[in-house]
Amino acid sequence: MLAMHENKFEFSYKVYNNIDELPKEQRTLLKKAQQVCEQAYAPYSNFHVGAVAKLLNGEIVTGTNQENASYPVGLCAERVLLASASSQFPNVPIETIAVSYKSKFQKNDHPVAPCGICRQTLQEFEGRVNHPVQLILGGMTGEVYVIDSASKLLPLAFTNEEL
Ligand SMILES: [Zn+2]
Repeated sequence: MLAMHENKFEFSYKVYNNIDELPKEQRTLLKKAQQVCEQAYAPYSNFHVGAVAKLLNGEIVTGTNQENASYPVGLCAERVLLASASSQFPNVPIETIAVSYKSKFQKNDHPVAPCGICRQTLQEFEGRVNHPVQLILGGMTGEVYVIDSASKLLPLAFTNEEL
């Protein structure tokens, strides 16, 4: 019988000093994510988020956060993007998603990571198309994180294999 033991979960990601250090294609996607922040509907938080996906078929799909006076109704940019991509191009894997943000009250000088619900949604998307989604996370300035697979952000995830 095995004695109690400890499991270790390791996670690594790339950190670039700024957007200019990114390879050209990734830089282009993050720049577009910065631009689409303007299309967000975020009158309550003033936290505008823009997400841009490059699909395996070469198509580009964007998403922004959409808030509501009934706060819980609001949707994050990442999930708006995934719903849009899945609707327009069913079962087409997403190669990369770049996410940026523009806040009225923050400096916008560091990456922000997807919230818990979006991590869950990204994890299932990867599983259903059997392809990792690379994430590029960056603000308007400052460091940029590149993560090979969105699922890495959700260790010990609850998945559809339990159902
Ligand atoms: Zn979210």
